[in-house]
Amino acid sequence: MSASTVHSPAPTAPSTRTAPTSRTGATPVVLGGSRALLWLFGTALFGVVLYYFIGIDQGATSVFGDNMYIHEFVHDARHLIGFPCH
Ligand SMILES: [Zn+2]
Repeated sequence: MSASTVHSPAPTAPSTRTAPTSRTGATPVVLGGSRALLWLFGTALFGVVLYYFIGIDQGATSVFGDNMYIHEFVHDARHLIGFPCH
């Protein structure tokens, strides 16, 4: 094989992307078992409360009495998620 048949890499177009100059990746959160359970319980409780106020709290079954304040406040979210309303 002569030197003239050796293929050199084709010239590439300059990249428009810039290489990151430093690694700023996310640091994983490491929790112990009891703290993880606390976060899990808190998140689940928050989800249930949010679910109640968006989807269930209405009129006579309202936590804050027989009014529609919460219902009207979360009304658009209620329709966005697909709960029956009116
Ligand atoms: Zn509605």
